Amino acid sequence: MRIVIDPGHGGKDPGAVANGLTEKRLTWDIANLVKQKLANVDADVIIIQPSAKNPNSTAKDEVNLPPQEANRLGADFFLSIHINAGGGTGFESFVYSKGSKADRIRNKLHHQIMQYLKKYNLPDRGKKYSQWLGVLRMTKMPAVLIECGFIDHPNDARLLADPKFINGLANEIAYGLIVALGLKTKGGK
Ligand SMILES: [Zn+2]
Repeated sequence: MRIVIDPGHGGKDPGAVANGLTEKRLTWDIANLVKQKLANVDADVIIIQPSAKNPNSTAKDEVNLPPQEANRLGADFFLSIHINAGGGTGFESFVYSKGSKADRIRNKLHHQIMQYLKKYNLPDRGKKYSQWLGVLRMTKMPAVLIECGFIDHPNDARLLADPKFINGLANEIAYGLIVALGLKTKGGK
């Protein structure tokens, strides 16, 4: 099982910026925490971040290169991590099409993450579908994109600025992946 994690944005593309927070930094931190938490799981977890190789990577690179690389690597699952903006609050997730394998995986992952977020009164904005998100369109394997709160909402931003909250969120994403993908501990347990 090979899992690609795509921390949204990077390089010259900061993503959403508000309240002293920058989306590309948050997604990078969350992606690395999730990978750490999956260290004892029998899966190959790869973070693909174009800006790690090219600090001048553009928004286009940040959308196009991770799916291309995941396809080249023959990944089994693709997770794109984002932080929302534009007037709202809470969590939402996207897959390309209804009833797909990605949709079934997403339902479990979404449920697990919401169990955690509702303790913080973050609303569930729903399990959504999009044919317009590049990473979902280009990936050949099941792919899910998550939007973990709104950087420009005071309550969401206060949580996103708290390393304890971020660590707990990463825990829940990792556990959600274990449940949704049926991952086993290394050694076959
Ligand atoms: Zn984003």
